[in-house]
This record gives sequence, C-alpha cells and structure tokens, in this order.
Amino acid sequence: MIKKLLKRVFGKSAKKKSPDSAIVIPFEVHKVGRDSISYGAKRVTDGLQAAGFKAFVVGGAVRDLLLNRQPKDFDVATDATPEEIRRVFRRARIIGRRFRLVHVMFGDETVEVSTFRRMIEVEDAQTDEHGRLLRDNEFGDREQDAARRDFTANALFYDPTTQEIFDYHNGYADIRANTLRIIGEPEVRYREDPVRMLRAVRLSAKLGMKLDEATAAPIAQMKGLLANVPEARMFDEMLKLLLSGHALECIKKLRAMDLHHGMLPMLDVILEQPLGERFVMLSLQNTDQRIRDEKPTSPAFLFAALLWHEVLSVWKVREASGERSLAALQAAMDEVLERQRAQLAIPRRYDTVMKAQHLIQFIDHPTP
Ligand code: ATP
Ligand code: MG
Repeated sequence: MIKKLLKRVFGKSAKKKSPDSAIVIPFEVHKVGRDSISYGAKRVTDGLQAAGFKAFVVGGAVRDLLLNRQPKDFDVATDATPEEIRRVFRRARIIGRRFRLVHVMFGDETVEVSTFRRMIEVEDAQTDEHGRLLRDNEFGDREQDAARRDFTANALFYDPTTQEIFDYHNGYADIRANTLRIIGEPEVRYREDPVRMLRAVRLSAKLGMKLDEATAAPIAQMKGLLANVPEARMFDEMLKLLLSGHALECIKKLRAMDLHHGMLPMLDVILEQPLGERFVMLSLQNTDQRIRDEKPTSPAFLFAALLWHEVLSVWKVREASGERSLAALQAAMDEVLERQRAQLAIPRRYDTVMKAQHLIQFIDHPTP
C-alpha cells in the first residue's frame, strides 16, 4: 500500500527493483557480459529458462568475475527441482543425499545446479547443543537462497540472458569496496556453521579482500566451536585451503587469528620447531607456485611434506633406541599418520603416496 503510494508520489525509483527485495544491477553498471560465462553454464541457464524455469549463475563465479578473476567453476541456482533439472538435460545426474544437487556435463565441463534452498527458521531448526544449524536443505525461493549463503559477495545472482545481477545483501557494493562481510548476525551465522570462520579467513586471503570488522570480531571468542565440526568436513576445508594457490597467506592469516589449531593438528607442533616453520612455509610456497603455474599437485604430496618433520623426529627416536633405519622410518610414518588421523580424517587413500614421499626422502638421506 505505502509502497504503491510512494511510487505514485515520487515516480519510479532510480534503482530498478525486482518484484522481491533485490536490487537489480544492469550490465552498464557491472560490465560482466554473457561471454564471460562458461559454455556449460550458459547451456544450463538457457536450457532451464527455455523450459520455463528461472536460472542464474551464483556464488563464487559471479564474485570472481566482478573481481576480474577467472572463476574456478560455475554454479547455477534455479527454481526447478532436481528431477525437473535432470529432465531438461541429456547428460545430468542427481548427486548428494543431504542436499540433492544435479551435475550437468558438457564435454569435460561439469556444471553444478542446485534448487533454491532456504534456511530453517531457528525455532524449528534441528540445532545440536552448540547451536549448529543441521538443516538448510528445504527448497525455497531466490531471496531465501541468498539469505542462507555465507558472505554478501557470495550471494549475487547473474542472469546470462538479461545480463542483470540481483543483489539482496549489498554484495555488489561490498565487492566494489573490497570487503568480505558475513550476511546477518555474525555470531548467529558462526554458531550455525563454524566452518564459516575458516571460510572468512580463506576467502579474504585468497581474494585479497579485507574482512569487515564486525565479521572478524567474534571469531576470537567463537573459534572453539570448530572442535565440533565433523572431521571429514574439516579435512575438505583444509584441502580447499591448501590447494587454493594461496595456502601460505591463508595459514599466516589463520595463525594471526589463532585459528590454525585443530586444522591440521600436527601443524601446531611443526610450526613450533624453528626448522619446521621454514620447511612448512617452503612446501606451501612451492605448492602455491605450482597451482598458479597450473602444474599438477597432489594433496598427498603436500601432506607428506607437512608431516615430514614429525616423521623425522619419531624416526630419530626409534633409531636411537636400536631399531634398524628403514624399519624405524616405516614405524615412524605409521605412528605419525595414526596420530594425525585421530584428529583429522586424512583419507587412507593418501597413505601410499605420502609414504612413498617419505621413502624418497629416505633414499636421499638414509639416516635421520
Ligand atoms: P571458491 O572460489 O573457493 O570455490 P566459493 O565461494 O565458490 O569459493 P564454494 O565452497 O564453492 O565456495 O561454495 C559455493 C557457494 O555456496 C558460496 O559462494 C556460498 O554462496 C555458498 N556456501 C558455501 N559454503 C557455505 C557455508 N558454509 N555457509 C553458507 N553458504 C555457503
Ligand atoms: Mg566454488
């Protein structure tokens, strides 16, 4: 009512509004053209729109394009259900149990397509005793989908057909101001999902964006909540961090915020040794450079490097107590991996490569 009245009195507002509360940013302002979208993502949005659905490029890709960076991959969000999405494309399969997503394949490009989701209201959310949000897998609309995302810069929707960006949380202005800001109340959002604290640090290091003050402030007191995050999830996050091409900056930032404990438990021990720190930093730098040069990297190699010092010291102790050198090394590798695994789920499939790396070190230096 009031809105209508205001409109009649003041005429159309300068900023174009969409039917919901999004601000619409036209191509002339943001300058991201349809041609900067990957072939697969365009095929997906075109296909879904032709079938009568809404479809947008979302998340990291829109953010990266606005920052003049090459997106790692393109994700699409739509109002079509997973089954409806699958019916539109020839090569598509539904994946995931908790959130059902659809992977649509075009040659060697895979586009991840998700149905708009909403966060369950806090009252009826199944939160665990620490307040972690356990359910955000109900379908929702575009506005709800924006609100459940982590940072304002990650919550923009781009329509490759009209070349418009839909912005619910001032993400466009934040990106232009080079600021990473969490959506909503920081404390609430970190309690829902403590991994967001790590994401804040990782993304700000990777993108060179400054962390908004209110976004950074509660982390010091809330970091303890990371202890409740399932190991497998911590491991995934750790991998993203180590393979981001900016691992060194990320680890430095994590240490500055005292968030690195518990990420890779051994890292604490290693970093505290004077030689260890240099070794870890060099391994990280080396991996970062390989990623930037688009050379292949393997998580197992990096873990092997990160754990090498620990293996070395156990090896020394065992050898000093009379074990044969190679046997002592093998026992040391098992011991260190086992200890590490107790806190962080390094999948066993990495063991062989990690041990091989340690054996290569052994061939170079047959005694510790
Ligand atoms: P990257 O460039 O590292 O892939 P990204 O922002 O694309 O960064 P993804 O992990 O690929 O990160 O996640 C895709 C999108 O999903 C994010 O942009 C964000 O909107 C949303 N998202 C991811 N993790 C969370 C989370 N823990 N809480 C809320 N939203 C999240
Ligand atoms: Mg991504």
